[in-house]
Amino acid sequence: MSVVPVVTYRRARGYAPLAWSEEGAEVIARITTLAETVGPGHVAVFDLDGCLFDTRPRQVQIFRELAARAGYDPLYRVAAEHFTDWSIRSTLANAGVEPEWIDANHDAVRSWWELHFFTSTYVLYDHAMPGAAALVRAVHDAGVHCVYLTGRDETMRIGTEDALRRFGFPYDLPGTTLLVKPDFRTDDTEFKEGAIEIVAAMGHVVLYLDNEPANVNLFRRRHPESLVVFVETDHSPKLVEPDPEIPWLRSFLVRGV
Ligand SMILES: [Mg+2]
Repeated sequence: MSVVPVVTYRRARGYAPLAWSEEGAEVIARITTLAETVGPGHVAVFDLDGCLFDTRPRQVQIFRELAARAGYDPLYRVAAEHFTDWSIRSTLANAGVEPEWIDANHDAVRSWWELHFFTSTYVLYDHAMPGAAALVRAVHDAGVHCVYLTGRDETMRIGTEDALRRFGFPYDLPGTTLLVKPDFRTDDTEFKEGAIEIVAAMGHVVLYLDNEPANVNLFRRRHPESLVVFVETDHSPKLVEPDPEIPWLRSFLVRGV
């Protein structure tokens, strides 16, 4: 009998935006100190979904609307804490929805979700991660060019810009740029790999934050001298683990609330 080695991947524990910790506060302090030290001519890159923004309220909204429109009452059970990965099945199971109901309605729920999640209208239901806007403002105030680099596509630009403004992220200012995917079908990591050159043309990249292990590893390889931070929320099921040298951050708060 052959023995199959069991490989375990260290995965994010899920969203906990209020989970302040001393280690997290140290990472925040490293980021602000770095920005103040380097100043103008340097670039900080921030991912949006699952990084600066909590997408769970968007998903709850999508489920609630379908529940009301289609009489899918079990969907009313779904709350933010039930989103632990990218699977609708797990989300519904976490919410206590009966397995038979999930089997019967999963495809319809999935189709509805796909129709609404990647839209300008619905990104407005996202919440900024607590403390995230204050951190980006501090980095921008230090003179560092802030780039929002997202897997959202061009059709989501208007809603994304509106969300950035509403939550007080630096935008419409010199030293701020939003980069979205020209084509929805492009793989996120592939798009970000291509965007590395565009970002590098804006200045020396010193900071990169993302919640996707493949993306943080990509930036660390290309900019080994920069501070790359893995934001611990949710991420794709890809079997990739963040480089062990990369610090993890679960909450952007500088103190407990
Ligand atoms: Mg993300």
